Amino acid sequence: METIVSGARPTGRLHLGHLHGALKNWVGLQKDYRCFFFVADWHALTTDYATPQGIQQSSIEMATDWLSVGLDPQRCVLFRQSRIKAHAELHLLLSMITPLPWLERNPTYKEQIKELVGKDLSTYGFLGYPVLQAADIIMYKANKVPVGVDQAPHVELTREIVRRFNQLYGPIFPEPEVLLTEAQRLPGLDGRKMSKSYNNAVFLSDSPKEIDQKLSRMMTDPARVRRQDPGEPEKCPAFQLHKIYCTADEIDYVSKGCRTAGIGCLDCKKVMIKHVIAELAPVQEKRAALEKRPAEVGDVLATGNRVAQEKAAETMDEVRAAIGL
Ligand code: SF4
Repeated sequence: METIVSGARPTGRLHLGHLHGALKNWVGLQKDYRCFFFVADWHALTTDYATPQGIQQSSIEMATDWLSVGLDPQRCVLFRQSRIKAHAELHLLLSMITPLPWLERNPTYKEQIKELVGKDLSTYGFLGYPVLQAADIIMYKANKVPVGVDQAPHVELTREIVRRFNQLYGPIFPEPEVLLTEAQRLPGLDGRKMSKSYNNAVFLSDSPKEIDQKLSRMMTDPARVRRQDPGEPEKCPAFQLHKIYCTADEIDYVSKGCRTAGIGCLDCKKVMIKHVIAELAPVQEKRAALEKRPAEVGDVLATGNRVAQEKAAETMDEVRAAIGL
């Protein structure tokens, strides 16, 4: 069975954007691959080193959502990056062989420095985070890494580092391939990308009432100022959710209703909202059960940490021997 490695920064409770962006894909992958999914808590520090207070709680919240959506600890290894110290050792060793220009040309490095205003990101850790990512991936000898198009250059950098390592010290690591994820980009309530930091998210753990209230307020085609104004569904952020959740007949019905002003936006959204609530019902049932057994999530991570630890120790034995340490 081929191995897959992927991780996510601990952002706390997850939302619909995460569900459609990565989680559904992960749940599918665990059937066909040996999967290692990790809470990337050290990565969180690369940008949030000044405010680390929430990381512990956010890690547990995120892992709870992972289990709620169907990641199965019997099929995949769920663990916390910071518990496997070997990631730090491999990161250090890879940093010895990674030329600085490979990191400086990373497009997301420059973009994020511009975007994340108010944070001093002129740090060694932030520049080097793709090297840490490479260590995370190759530690488990991943054959494939599921990513969206925007993350593909990072995997390419990992491949370059692997080639250099193997050339210098011998063929220890496979070159991981990109497994492109066809993620659906979900708009948030205000039409921007759904994100906790924009305060525009529908969380997987929101109650049906909260989901209904939030989505009823979601931005629509600005042309529909009054009920009798016709609209254009493709200009409406809420309609992006219809396209994901509704049947072909329902999409047809609301599209016609919108263009002819035959239905109001609230009635239109109701058609979609019922599907969102239905999709999340089993997720929330599982979450409620997990919340009654608070130790369970910690136990799952502890078991995953042990499995990851064993595999990482094997890899590092090989690495040290190859380098002659
Ligand atoms: S009727 Fe539906 S598709 Fe049209 S603007 Fe309103 S919510 Fe959007």
